[in-house]
Amino acid sequence: MDVVGLGFSSLDYVGIVPHLPRLDEGMGLSDLTTQGGGPVAQALVTLARLGANAGYIGRFGDDDAGITMRRSLEDEGVDLAELQLERGATSAQCIILVDQATGKRSICAYQGTAGDVTVSSLSLDYVCSGRYLHLDGFSMKGALAAARAARTSGVRVCLDAGGPFERLRELIEATDILIANEQFALDAGRGDYELGAARLRAFGPSIVVATLGAAGSYTLTGDEAFLIPSFPVDVVDTTGAGDVFHGAYLYGLLQRWPPRQVAVFANAAAALKCTRLGGRAGIPRLAAVQSFLQDREHTIPFSSGALAVDRNQGDG
Ligand code: ADP
Repeated sequence: MDVVGLGFSSLDYVGIVPHLPRLDEGMGLSDLTTQGGGPVAQALVTLARLGANAGYIGRFGDDDAGITMRRSLEDEGVDLAELQLERGATSAQCIILVDQATGKRSICAYQGTAGDVTVSSLSLDYVCSGRYLHLDGFSMKGALAAARAARTSGVRVCLDAGGPFERLRELIEATDILIANEQFALDAGRGDYELGAARLRAFGPSIVVATLGAAGSYTLTGDEAFLIPSFPVDVVDTTGAGDVFHGAYLYGLLQRWPPRQVAVFANAAAALKCTRLGGRAGIPRLAAVQSFLQDREHTIPFSSGALAVDRNQGDG
């Protein structure tokens, strides 16, 4: 396994609206699609499409949504050996409205009744079977147990951070690579994402990245700090752009590219995602990211063989 992820997976109903409806207003959707979603699940599908081996730990119900999510992850080649199932429970589902003009989205999430990953049935051997463990702050008890076990066994922990800082504080302390959304970084830095990244890095992560939507991404490591602008594309829907960024970022780390190349690659994969409706449909394969970058005269030394598996080298 290259990356094991533990966190949220949902079935998403994504439609395009002319504008967000007001209370009591009815309107037509100009497009509608049902696709798998969820931060960790989408990042793992991204990794699988790019050519990495990914495994998912989450908890589904045995309802239609759970069955569909399970099939779609299996079809993508994501390993589900440690997926937890709750009989008679409903799985997480989201209704997502995409604004036609900007491609920005509003998400209403139903958590379902399957509940969080059960710590007592969590296989720590499986958790530690990759080079990276990817978390999104869902299933917090399981995430903390997994992060601590991973660090003890030399597996690097990557966290997709959003929402209130205090909820994630303990997890951030057990994280090596923190990728935060813009609001999270702004909140940490009282309105200044660069300061926010520095403050977040003081909690322990060696790399902090803030994704800044159409403005690109900002990276802070022990050696450097830089902004990589996003790639201009015809944006249809930004749903899942962050998730694809995380998956592609981990792919770059697996390849041991320097931080700037990793960020360029992740920006490119996320931009390609924005050109399609839904979180899953737009996730690019490696060849698509390669030709997108080549067309824009970026040189990234893509290796065609298997990913390196030396755990002893750090990622900065
Ligand atoms: P999230 O989906 O978690 O809110 P962002 O909106 O910050 O995350 O998007 C993640 C990444 O996707 C950005 O860092 C950028 O590389 C890319 N991206 C997002 N919006 C656009 C856009 N409008 N055009 C091009 N790339 C984008």
